[in-house]
Amino acid sequence: MPNDDAVRVEQLVRTYRSGPDTVTALAGVDAAFVRGTFTAVMGPSGSGKSTLLQTAAGLDRPTSGRVWIGDTELSRLSETKLTMLRRNRIGFVFQSYNLIGALTVRENIELPLRLAGTRPDRGWLDEVVARVGLGPRLRHRPAELSGGQQQRVAIARALATRPDVIFSDEPTGALDSQTAAEVLGLLRSVVDGYGQTVIMVTHDRGAASYADRVLHMSDGSIVRAEAMHSVLAQVG
Ligand code: ADP
Repeated sequence: MPNDDAVRVEQLVRTYRSGPDTVTALAGVDAAFVRGTFTAVMGPSGSGKSTLLQTAAGLDRPTSGRVWIGDTELSRLSETKLTMLRRNRIGFVFQSYNLIGALTVRENIELPLRLAGTRPDRGWLDEVVARVGLGPRLRHRPAELSGGQQQRVAIARALATRPDVIFSDEPTGALDSQTAAEVLGLLRSVVDGYGQTVIMVTHDRGAASYADRVLHMSDGSIVRAEAMHSVLAQVG
């Protein structure tokens, strides 16, 4: 049977040692993220949002529990295989755009393909560049772009390998509200236009309103799942 979940986590526990104490960042989280959906993760500072994102994305290993990206269960993978999976099947968009200043916009977008040793699919890259509206900027360096444009480069870079899922941690945290709305609209459009799956941590209710649902976290657990009506649907 085909797996409709782009990402699934089961009984995810992550504890940290803090001197003599143990901090429980994730207290046994179960969640499934269906392909082609946009999920926001909200909750107070320290509730486990970033830890959930990091463990679900294979950036951090859980203390116990399991994570699937599609049909691949991550705990079975060696570090090398996990790194390859992150490069090929996961896109990342962070608050700090993490672009490489010495590379042009085009080179930044194509970097994941080079790291993965994959031949660029020109048609796909052209489409991604057009969608994020960066065509005239391809030869520019990141420092020549506004914050919103840099985040568009980061989104194009995240899409370059056609990943199974894009993980995003506070993608609009450094942007003014108008630019933030444009970046969130772009994330929404890659879900609606390409059937991409997006999982986004945010503390901003307005940002979360672009998602299909919001998972609310408290003390390392998901305490509520809230269905959203996307702002695009409201505008349309
Ligand atoms: P949020 O993203 O919701 O602010 P986090 O996932 O960053 O929450 O953190 C959840 C809990 O785990 C917090 O109590 C935090 O202090 C703790 N924590 C997170 N990372 C570490 C770490 N590397 N070492 C020790 N404690 C950590």
